[in-house]
Amino acid sequence: MSQEKDCIFCKIVNGDIPSSKVYEDEAVYAFLDISQVTKGHTLIVPKKHTQNIYETDEETAGELFKRVPKIATALKKALNPVGINLLNNNEEAAGQSVFHLHLHLIPRYDSTDGFN
Ligand code: 5GP
Ligand code: ZN
Repeated sequence: MSQEKDCIFCKIVNGDIPSSKVYEDEAVYAFLDISQVTKGHTLIVPKKHTQNIYETDEETAGELFKRVPKIATALKKALNPVGINLLNNNEEAAGQSVFHLHLHLIPRYDSTDGFN
């Protein structure tokens, strides 16, 4: 699996940095965001390092998006949100702060749940 030495999400995938695991299989790792915008805010990353959507091949993008229904449904069952946002930031200007491709899954509870 291709990894980047100084990438914090590669370190999380490897277990070198601890994380609260939500889901894992051979291709992806999902874990709770350290700074939750709502309860259950989860990040899904491909295990293979890729910087952002511009650098990502179709197979890796497919593997990542393919897992969303399963993980979103698990969050729904566990936390009973009334909705969920999917978010993906690419490049600094668009709010990307960690340069390993990731999808945010942000469960929604009501209009005052903290995420706009
Ligand atoms: P971005 O701004 O790149 O779309 O999202 C990066 C996300 O990674 C942020 O929401 C941030 O809170 C989260 N994050 C940064 N460092 C860590 C970490 O060490 N552990 C976890 N679980 N989340 C992190
Ligand atoms: Zn990485």
